[in-house]
Amino acid sequence: MTLDRIALATLLAFGGGLVHAECDFKVEVNDEMRFKISQMVADASCDNIKVTINHTGKLAANVMGHNWVLAKSADVQAIATEGMMVGLDNNYLTPGDARVLAATDIVGAGESASTSFSPKVIETGESYTFFCSFPGHWASMKGDFILK
Ligand code: ZN
Repeated sequence: MTLDRIALATLLAFGGGLVHAECDFKVEVNDEMRFKISQMVADASCDNIKVTINHTGKLAANVMGHNWVLAKSADVQAIATEGMMVGLDNNYLTPGDARVLAATDIVGAGESASTSFSPKVIETGESYTFFCSFPGHWASMKGDFILK
């Protein structure tokens, strides 16, 4: 195989796009208040969408904890503001909050957590955001969640 052929095969295998839809996401976070990705594109044909958050930083959950929360973009600020009040024991999310479509636990250094949800929670024509509900993080630690 020449290099050109390898490049072409790779391109075909990954659909040729920079962002390709998928079902299983690994999201890495560290001691910064941001996700490394600003957009996640999931495939509408997935039975379940799984998101695993992995904290590769050095700081503990009570100092620089992170989670991955999915909600309608319009609900993010209220969810995060109310979640701040209920503390780390509740992963900074009001228990039973129906606006939270999916969420992992808060993780600190060296920890990981997962959540799985049906793509059916996504309504056509709505805008969705993934974010971290740790106090003060949601304003910068967020991105667009798109179902294709
Ligand atoms: Zn965070």
